[in-house]
This record gives sequence, structure tokens and C-alpha cells, in this order.
Amino acid sequence: MLEIKPITEKPAAHDYVFVFTGRDVVVSLMRPPEQIWSRQEVVDVFGEVAVGEPLGYWSGQPCYVVEIAHEHVNALEHVTGGLLSLFGRISDAAFAAYGRALQMLSWRRDHRFCGRCGGDTLPSDGGRALACPDCGHSAYPRLNPCVIVAVGRGDELLLAEAAGRATGFHSTLAGFIEPGESAEEAVVREVQEEVGLVVNNVRYFQSQPWPFPSQLMLGFFADYAGGEIVVDPEEIAQAGWYRKGQTPRIPPPSSIAGQLIAHFFASA
Ligand SMILES: [Zn+2]
Repeated sequence: MLEIKPITEKPAAHDYVFVFTGRDVVVSLMRPPEQIWSRQEVVDVFGEVAVGEPLGYWSGQPCYVVEIAHEHVNALEHVTGGLLSLFGRISDAAFAAYGRALQMLSWRRDHRFCGRCGGDTLPSDGGRALACPDCGHSAYPRLNPCVIVAVGRGDELLLAEAAGRATGFHSTLAGFIEPGESAEEAVVREVQEEVGLVVNNVRYFQSQPWPFPSQLMLGFFADYAGGEIVVDPEEIAQAGWYRKGQTPRIPPPSSIAGQLIAHFFASA
């Protein structure tokens, strides 16, 4: 389990280190990806690397993320791949830690220069922010809140296939929250925009970080309140009402969409 808090110790050989090259995770072929590298192992295998971006504590030890050049990856000993390839294959806690690692790395990479004046940024606020010494602007890691909603009509659940993404899944509807909007308002608007339906009785379920690249998914249930399905073809290929046991292929149970669907049918 990742404990997010400032690291008070000096970097040490027993620190845990999550290793990436570009946006890809680097794991050893010799052991499961859940077993995180130690700093000593990283140095032994990849040579001297930067201290890395502090993430917090993993299994009670300080943990960091580092990025290595792709030429240090040895195809006979290491596997590289997108983080999504680990989803459902490792524990939710380990996936969340890898997700934080990737997001902190991306944030560092994307905020080397001040967005306001173009100056070089430096870590500030105990490493939580990147600040510009020239103009004082600071940038914190950015999260993009999204709503994801299971719309029910009696014992039927609305499921939709996204357009143009070939996931092969029918899932719950989702979308970004707009500036100035509450999460509940975003639920109502997204359902209206994507499938033309009116919903009410919006209830919060639970949330899940989704680091592709930096979403925080806020799960909701809502009730059908009117209208006929008219899909927005830019967003949705097909949508329909489904009963328990009659659904097409749905997202895996470790995703919040899978949990919303399971929870709906468990209580329908
Ligand atoms: Zn600046």
C-alpha cells in the first residue's frame, strides 16, 4: 500500500524505485511486476540514476520514480510496456502506486518551464510543487476530474460502446467535469450530450485514480427520468438497456466501470 507523505530520510540503498522509460514501465523478466526494484538493484542493473521523484512510502520504505534511457533496457532481462498492460494483473494498491509514479514523472517533464513566463522551475513546497523563481508562479500536479455514471431504469442498466476506440467493451458513460460545474451537474450534462437522456437522483458511489494521463474518476449512479436514446456519433457507437446476465462484454471488475456495473446488478 502506498502511503502518500513527505519522505524524511536521505535516499538509501533499500528505497523502492519504480522505473520507467518514456511512459513505459520497466520490470524484470525474472520476477513479478508487483515486486518493486530497490535503489541498489536499480544501480546494479542500470548504472547510476537520478535520485528520482519522491512518491511517499511503499511497504513502509521510501519510494521514488526514476526515468531511464531506453538504451539501458535489456530485452533479454526486462519487459517494458504501457501501464495499462499491468491493470488487473497486479494488486489495485500496486497499480495505484505505479499510476502515481507515472503521473509525477509526467508532471515533472511537462513543467520544466514556467507556463507564465517561460523561466526554469525548481521544486518547492517540500517537492509538492514546481515553482518559478522569476515570477513566483507554482504548478502542482494536475488531476482531471471525470464523472462516470451507471444509469438505471428499473432493473435495466444503460451501457454504451465508445466510438472510435475499439475497446470491445460496453461500459458506463463518462466525461470530464467542466470548469464551473459540480460533479452532479456534469453527470446530468454528459448523459444528455452522449445519449440524449434525462437523468435524476444522482448519487455518489466511489472514485478511482486513472493515470491515462491524469484522470480522477468519480463514480455515480443515476436514474432514468425521460427521453429516447439518441447517441452522439462522435462519442458513442451504440447504446442500449441491458438486464443482469444479458450484457455484452463489459469492463474488468478492477475498473470503476466494472464495479459500478456489478454493484448495480447486485442491487437491481
Ligand atoms: Zn515564471
